[in-house]
Amino acid sequence: MNILTLSVLLLTALASPSAFSQGFQFDSDISEDLKTQVNSDLASLKAIHLVNSSVLNDSVFGKNHDYTTWLLDRVQKFGFGKSDRTAVAYFQSISAGKIWVTKNYIKYPLPMIYRVSTFLHEARHTEDEFNYHADCPKPYKLSNGEPVLSYYSKRPLAGDDACDDSAVGAYGIEGIFYRNIVRYCDNCTDKVKADAEIQFEESLKRVSNKAEHHRLMDDSDFHDELIDFSDQSF
Ligand SMILES: [Zn+2]
Repeated sequence: MNILTLSVLLLTALASPSAFSQGFQFDSDISEDLKTQVNSDLASLKAIHLVNSSVLNDSVFGKNHDYTTWLLDRVQKFGFGKSDRTAVAYFQSISAGKIWVTKNYIKYPLPMIYRVSTFLHEARHTEDEFNYHADCPKPYKLSNGEPVLSYYSKRPLAGDDACDDSAVGAYGIEGIFYRNIVRYCDNCTDKVKADAEIQFEESLKRVSNKAEHHRLMDDSDFHDELIDFSDQSF
């Protein structure tokens, strides 16, 4: 191999999208730091291997647990979201097939599994049936009587449009994803599984329809009653 051949090979390697990011495109105004983190997270998503899966996981994501292909079917582009909101990523229906990632994505020390799950959440919003969230009940309490709070912002969720009526909406599918990681991933670290378990419970709290909440619990083989549904008429 001569020097010229080697140079061409190196340039080709640099110019080609790496396997894990193949298919995803980035707007030119996304910073290198942000792009690098998103690419790293997409690689982590691609690498997840499950030895089994739940019924809802199969019906939502497909029997082969290929979360990346499911994501690519709905999202092909990443843009830079200049919003002042605290969101790490969001979807706008006027920009089909695109997730807007904000500076918060790398500003806060968020777990990897949470960051990639955010992509699944936003991708679910691309489907007409799951464009929007439902208002959380008011009051909305945990089994111990405490108000249900947003995990990161610590604000009470009661009355906020931050819940879903369906077990397979944007929050529910995050819960399905997290719990399948906990139960069936054979190449995830203990840290990833611990993060996923915490986030599973947060996602479950966002499914505030009693029947759908329990559908997600059953599918997840999870038996702790987190929410107090006793004085609620739904
Ligand atoms: Zn959402």
